[in-house]
Amino acid sequence: MEEASNSSIQVLRESSADKENVSSFEPPNKKIKTNDYHVDSKIKLEDKLCGILCCAVCLDLPKICYQCSNGHLMCAGCFNHLLADARIKDETATCPSCRCEINRNTCIRNLAVEKAVSELPSECPFCNQKLPRYLLEHHQKEQCQERPSVCRYSRIGCPWEGPYRDLAQHEDACAYPVKSGEEVMANLEVIDARRLEEQRVFTDIFTLLSYEKITFNDLQLKPFRTDDFITRLYYETTRFTAFNHQWVIRAKINSDHKNPIHTINRTLSYQLVLKTKLTTPMSLHFLALSGPFGGIKMKSRIYNFEFTSESPETEYEDLPINSSECDKLLASKTINFRLVMFQVTK
Ligand SMILES: [Zn+2]
Ligand SMILES: [Zn+2]
Ligand SMILES: [Zn+2]
Ligand SMILES: [Zn+2]
Repeated sequence: MEEASNSSIQVLRESSADKENVSSFEPPNKKIKTNDYHVDSKIKLEDKLCGILCCAVCLDLPKICYQCSNGHLMCAGCFNHLLADARIKDETATCPSCRCEINRNTCIRNLAVEKAVSELPSECPFCNQKLPRYLLEHHQKEQCQERPSVCRYSRIGCPWEGPYRDLAQHEDACAYPVKSGEEVMANLEVIDARRLEEQRVFTDIFTLLSYEKITFNDLQLKPFRTDDFITRLYYETTRFTAFNHQWVIRAKINSDHKNPIHTINRTLSYQLVLKTKLTTPMSLHFLALSGPFGGIKMKSRIYNFEFTSESPETEYEDLPINSSECDKLLASKTINFRLVMFQVTK
């Protein structure tokens, strides 16, 4: 950026020097116009760069940037989404600009674009101050005087919200710290209840960990297609053994949606299928985790099912991941995860 503005200044100087030398030959109007042009091009440089460096799909400036083999730029989110889209439709993913094939081997990161983007100015949405992109996050979290804040006594019920610049003044005058224990008790109970809800899954896992029969398998889901008229994409693992029985996991995309291509928000759901015969019912808790080969951000959610010879398959249960993690999974060839199973013995 600095060099760019320096050279613009240079150009300006040269042209004003020109003006002194040649002013007698040229009508003054024309000269002024030339100067204006240079000033103008300096102002617009940022805008020009935004147009050049933006993602070809969403037009946002990419934080992580990929490029096709012809150099067209895509942000990481759109790149994954295109790959996932192509997998669902059973097509080859192509660059939205030139239609050349894109995949993880042919597309590379463009670090120069990432660096250039991080230097481009952006505007703080709270105070409208202009600053380079790489400083924006820190500014919004730590420095901005207009950033939304809550009172430090919100934990005991103070509902005050406002810009950071008013926070200290409010806290000095806040009525909550002098309230009696009796008065803040009700608010603490609400907070406790919320905390307990968040903790429940962990408490459940600890309880399950003391079960007699626990097993885990690191599994790999591979894509396959149905031979329906409109083929659909499914995933399945090979058979695995747990508790002396054979099992598989099946997964599908947006199970609640007829055609997953028509939605931007993608979800994956999975079912546990018993492949061998049961003589007595079997009650299981199971839990999918990212595992050592997965690398996905997954929340912990425990499901429970009673397997019998009549009902050997669970419902399709949500894999607790967000849509962009889901795109990442779909964009890769296989999906790795760990399945932990707990058998309830009576
Ligand atoms: Zn994009
Ligand atoms: Zn291209
Ligand atoms: Zn700000
Ligand atoms: Zn307060």
